[in-house]
Amino acid sequence: MSLSKSKYCNAIQCKKMLWLDINKPEMKEDVANQGVLDNGTEVGIVAKDLFGSHIDIEFNENLSLMLEDTKKALKNKEVVITEASFVYKNNFCSVDILKKKGNILEIYEVKSSTYLKDIYIDDISYQVYVLLSLGYKIGKAAIVHINSNYIRKGQLNLNKLFTIEDVTDIVVENKTKVEKNIEEINTYLKQKKEPKEDIGMQCKNPYECPFFGYCTRNLPENNVFKINGMRKSTMFNLYHKNIYTYEDLLKADIDLKAKQQIEFELLNKEDYINIPKIKSFLDTLSFPLYFLDFETFQQLVPEYDGVKPFMKIPFQYSLHYIETEDGKLEHKEFLAPSGEDPRRFLALQLVKDIPVDVCVLAYNMSFEKSVIKDLANLYPDLKEHLMNIYSNIKDLMIPFKNRDYYNKDMHGSYSIKYVLPALFPDDASLNYHNLDLIHNGSEAMSSFANLAKLEKNEQSKIRTNLLKYCELDTYAMVKIWEKLREVCYVTNR
Ligand code: SF4
Repeated sequence: MSLSKSKYCNAIQCKKMLWLDINKPEMKEDVANQGVLDNGTEVGIVAKDLFGSHIDIEFNENLSLMLEDTKKALKNKEVVITEASFVYKNNFCSVDILKKKGNILEIYEVKSSTYLKDIYIDDISYQVYVLLSLGYKIGKAAIVHINSNYIRKGQLNLNKLFTIEDVTDIVVENKTKVEKNIEEINTYLKQKKEPKEDIGMQCKNPYECPFFGYCTRNLPENNVFKINGMRKSTMFNLYHKNIYTYEDLLKADIDLKAKQQIEFELLNKEDYINIPKIKSFLDTLSFPLYFLDFETFQQLVPEYDGVKPFMKIPFQYSLHYIETEDGKLEHKEFLAPSGEDPRRFLALQLVKDIPVDVCVLAYNMSFEKSVIKDLANLYPDLKEHLMNIYSNIKDLMIPFKNRDYYNKDMHGSYSIKYVLPALFPDDASLNYHNLDLIHNGSEAMSSFANLAKLEKNEQSKIRTNLLKYCELDTYAMVKIWEKLREVCYVTNR
């Protein structure tokens, strides 16, 4: 079994994770955000130009070809090589960026995060171990990560987009530690029987382990890991004291913080509807009533002026609306053209579609409000109208957040992802799984971010499905609002 830098890092987080990845890959759950991963790749590609012209070692399944190409490129006295590849005793690594000056090498590991994490040190320590073991001299080892304060103005400035952190001393010192780790990993991986490894903070840190569902498959359904808002370390502390369920908690007489206690009790409770409270929420709404939902995407490498890495850029909205108490439900929508800054198009259409002084409902309004505020700050000519919309937004999440309406199928959560199926368990028209291609915000985000790269007919398929997805978001809000009215004014009149 040969190691790579990603396998080594997986094993540093938890050796069993790597064992399962090799022996039971089918038990892996999808925990990665594809949008973030895609952007990560894009960051790596852009960073290749950080030190000017370079020789790129193309990826090849046949790693020995990459090793050969690297050897050839290293014959240059001074050279920048990307994906330079090396192997020492079955330990393979490709270096993101390698600079050679005479017989001294500098290596740079590129990360799409905005700060230095401990696991990056493990990653680059492994590479330095391989290179030092092969007899190379390391002049510098550094982590290249995103500078979140960079705001694009005109041409992309790679020196400002990236921060370079020199970690040479620590990673050179780590050589013996890496050697010992590799030995331990190799011994561990030889086990034929599944190793017994208890869960712990390593399951969540530095990354969410994709085998957490598998490793906790024998825990009762309502367990401490389902408590909303509880620190992960508290969850694991309870677990390690053999406190798994609500009953265990009661028996052990453990004081949870009040909020967490309520959250956990909710996991065990039956339906509860506080009609006076829901009525008083509904009384804050008025006609015309608009239901608004935005979709946004992020760029780690900003493509447009005024954009920062990770900034939320709105590209789409759906709007259901009812003009009068007995009016019919109508719908408007907007989806920006791809490949251009969508914000101005969207802001212009939004002020056409939502008149001033109307009541606007959002689910978890802080998101919609922040998008509108950013647009208002960006476009002074639209500011007054946008801020009027902003100040008239009400939050449909309130009755659920305040627990004025809950049932145990909400699993203690007030997120629309839980509330909607709990209220409408059998309504196929409200089931996101029945949509094609786009089923959640992350898929919408990554689909739009990559839209311009697709063929025309593929683009139009994605656009149709983005519209359907976003329309369902606001339609779901309409149905939730109707349900609240129904419980207050129909069934309990
Ligand atoms: S869930 Fe935890 S114990 Fe299981 S493999 Fe992942 S990190 Fe290891």
